[in-house]
Amino acid sequence: MRCAEGIEVRDLDECYINIDPIQVGGRLTVDAMKAVIAYGDGYSVCDHCRKPFRLDHIKTPPIDRFHRELAAFIGMEEARVVPGARRGFSAVTGTYVGKGDPVLLTTLSHYTEVLAVESVGGVIREIPAELGHNITADAAAMTIESVLREFGRAPSLLMIDHIDYQYGNVHDVQGVARVAHQYDIPVLYNGAYSVGILPVDGRDLGVDFVVGSGHKSMAAPAPSGVLATSKERSTELFRTTTAKTDLSLRTFGIKEVMLLGCTLMGVTLIGMMASFPAVRERVGHWDEEIANGRRVVEALQRIEGTKVVSELPRKHTLTRIDTSGSFDRVAKTHKKRGFFLSSALKELGIAGTIPGATKVWKFNTYGMTSRQAEYTANAFLAIAEENKIPVSS
Ligand SMILES: *Cc1c(COP(=O)(O)O)cnc(C)c1O
Repeated sequence: MRCAEGIEVRDLDECYINIDPIQVGGRLTVDAMKAVIAYGDGYSVCDHCRKPFRLDHIKTPPIDRFHRELAAFIGMEEARVVPGARRGFSAVTGTYVGKGDPVLLTTLSHYTEVLAVESVGGVIREIPAELGHNITADAAAMTIESVLREFGRAPSLLMIDHIDYQYGNVHDVQGVARVAHQYDIPVLYNGAYSVGILPVDGRDLGVDFVVGSGHKSMAAPAPSGVLATSKERSTELFRTTTAKTDLSLRTFGIKEVMLLGCTLMGVTLIGMMASFPAVRERVGHWDEEIANGRRVVEALQRIEGTKVVSELPRKHTLTRIDTSGSFDRVAKTHKKRGFFLSSALKELGIAGTIPGATKVWKFNTYGMTSRQAEYTANAFLAIAEENKIPVSS
């Protein structure tokens, strides 16, 4: 079956249990799929755009209300939609970071944060992760002090990932934000692996900006995301244009400079909106997701030579494991080499692992039913037994 010449239908999530870390939280709801069909045309949300001609003011469909609900959902006052979390980062660095300004990231920061700082000429200093791959308030305080000594001023911004993409560990955002605020450093909360997956309250965490990813964690089409802030910061971050062109003397109303006016003009926004009721509901079931994740992790721990590299007990469904002492040993002599693992998983109906990876790799159990988690756990055990790796009971 094809969509068009050369474009096969994609049915991975229909035919397999997908454990790809980056894909599982972004899969569309049925309502979002309907929205994709109805709003696929370019600028489709602009049918009823009236004065003051801005996306977040459109009433039909209820985009204005969605913006208010989105802000409330993450405990912030003003929210805007952006084409991906990365565009949220760059709107913030573009507002607060000047050339040569120090900016604090962490040794577990996502590359898009690095690029968002680099794009405005900021200078990156990393907060080191402690043993066990955790970012602590103490480490943040020490790094701020060292920036003060080096630059003679505090960093212009600090960005902290609540859940890092490498280990899926949960970091002390509240503690880090408290320390940063003692030095008047604004704090950006990166919720790429949390907003839309688990309950997030920016006010409670004490952060200035909350960024989420629609296509990673909010069951929305790519590229989509959210950027939210407090009332105080919103006049800076969402400043409106004051430009007047020199010949035609045109001005541009209340278009927001850092967003380059309107952002998501069709399928991405409406897909995000269509999934929103389900997303708001699903964050209430985070404990069940954790239980499913732990079930799979416990099975892997029973396979001799397998090490869980992420913190234990698991507090997120994204987990990094090291199977150098188990599956990678098999790979050394197996006729399929390293490909035996992904291939055996695929045969059992499990997809989303990197073909050939048998040493250190990641998986994400988000969105599974408990039966699927049980099945996945048993699949790993069965592959181990089939390949004569000892399994403890
Ligand atoms: C995926 C990811 C991003 C990038 O998100 P986009 O919405 O694709 O821009 C940023 N930070 C972390 C921690 C991520 O995992």
